[in-house]
Amino acid sequence: MSINHHLDDATLVSYSAGALSQGMALVVASHLSICPQCRKRAEVNDSVGGALLESLEAETVADGMLASILTRLDDMPVQLTEVSTDTAVIDPEIPSPLRDYIDRPLDDLEWKRIVPGVAYYDMPWEGHGVSRLLRIAPGKAMLAHTHNGNELTMVLRGSFSDEVGRFRRGDVADLDDQIEHQPLVDSKEDCICLIATDAPLRFTTLFGKLVQPITGF
Ligand SMILES: [Zn+2]
Repeated sequence: MSINHHLDDATLVSYSAGALSQGMALVVASHLSICPQCRKRAEVNDSVGGALLESLEAETVADGMLASILTRLDDMPVQLTEVSTDTAVIDPEIPSPLRDYIDRPLDDLEWKRIVPGVAYYDMPWEGHGVSRLLRIAPGKAMLAHTHNGNELTMVLRGSFSDEVGRFRRGDVADLDDQIEHQPLVDSKEDCICLIATDAPLRFTTLFGKLVQPITGF
């Protein structure tokens, strides 16, 4: 797989610092799991951050707090779950960090339709912004929108094009609030993306504004 669109430095630094929303961190982790190039950059960030942390750590974790956490862990009932890697179905289309939340092939998910040709599947948590899989049929465009914050999109299947370029499997679109774009699916099959924002999208068309309250984007 050749990856042409990567994560921004700013996004990687925020990820290393643990400053991203859960959804955005999942997109970053998913891309890192298949992109050696970004993984290398993330490792460099981590080693710089780790050196900084080491000098702080001794002061920030109080002994008493650690002891009380350990006691509480001892008190918790132990649940044993049998995980057999032999029988687990590993779908190569789903990056490993995403497998914690998606337990079946993408086609078997309960997709919710927004408009004909556009469906979504929400990640199972709530928080700021959006975190979901988006599935768009060939030839369809996503609604034109800008962002109040950042938007991260990773292609899992198919491809789309927008003002920035063409995005195929593994590529990430790492967009800030300066960009208005309207991704158009240009593959023969549906395009499925993992998408996360740290704030709601801002639609720029009348139709987008009308459906926004319904779709929750
Ligand atoms: Zn990359």
